[in-house]
Amino acid sequence: MFSYRHAFHAGSHADILKHLTLIHLVEYLQEKPGALTIVDTHAGAGIYSLMDGFAAVSKEADSGIFRLVKFAQECKSSGKDIGKGIQDYLDHIFAENPQEQITVYPGSPFILARLLRAQDRLKLFELHPKEIDILRHNVHQLKQAKQIDIYAEDSFVRLKGLVPPPSRRGLVLIDPSYEDKQDYRHVETAMEEALQRFATGCYAIWYPVLSRREAAALPDRMKKIAANHKRPWLHTELRVENAPGERRLQASGMFVINPPWTLEKNLSEALPTLVRALRQGDDAEYLLKSFES
Ligand code: SAM
Repeated sequence: MFSYRHAFHAGSHADILKHLTLIHLVEYLQEKPGALTIVDTHAGAGIYSLMDGFAAVSKEADSGIFRLVKFAQECKSSGKDIGKGIQDYLDHIFAENPQEQITVYPGSPFILARLLRAQDRLKLFELHPKEIDILRHNVHQLKQAKQIDIYAEDSFVRLKGLVPPPSRRGLVLIDPSYEDKQDYRHVETAMEEALQRFATGCYAIWYPVLSRREAAALPDRMKKIAANHKRPWLHTELRVENAPGERRLQASGMFVINPPWTLEKNLSEALPTLVRALRQGDDAEYLLKSFES
């Protein structure tokens, strides 16, 4: 289970969909002044160099963040507006790259940390023995470090004990690697347990779109769990190519339980642009569906 290192995938199209959605969720939840607790169940290392190490080997950022930045520059020079959702996301990426050139990519812990207000808290879980050390080192540099707890524990076991947060305002990002196919089952159990204890929390689950049975079943399993608890949901996927037989990840999805009402509008503006910016063939497409309980 310790073969996965997120640095290989930092700045990929899947990170773009996940982090763009995440930023919108936090910004919406922060429209109210009450303290917000954010749990990132699968944190990774926090921030990644794109110039060397694993990311430079995989080059996934070439067809992800680098391509999107180039597209945004072309839009700007031809006087076209890229849209608020994508611009907001890019602003967060550039905040870590003050020289205007993208050399590092912030993972969910850094994106979330930078969004914290004084009253908010962030709880990060990471099990990998090397990633947890790097995460601790990276978080230590942040001025928000005192608002952040880091746990070297299995988040699937611990999540139920952390919800509801004292303020009853919470966001949970569930972003396993799914290298172990048990992760699909763990996500279901964790969601069942979490919703039983904290039905009004906002939950964002990332997953890879694969033909593997467990992956293909995940959105329907989430819909069933949301329905059991009478909760609204939003389901989105972004496909950048359709090349059967190729092993690289070509599409990913986010399933959000208790989404803010603004999320669908934000994504309906951003997704067509992401498809145009990131497409690697004629089969690029997106999916966006929601259900009000
Ligand atoms: N959320 C990160 C981001 O967006 O930047 C990426 C996380 S990566 C997909 C998944 C991480 O979860 C890996 O670093 C892995 O070591 C860690 N992990 C795997 N199983 C875990 C578990 N049960 N509890 C906590 N962390 C786990």
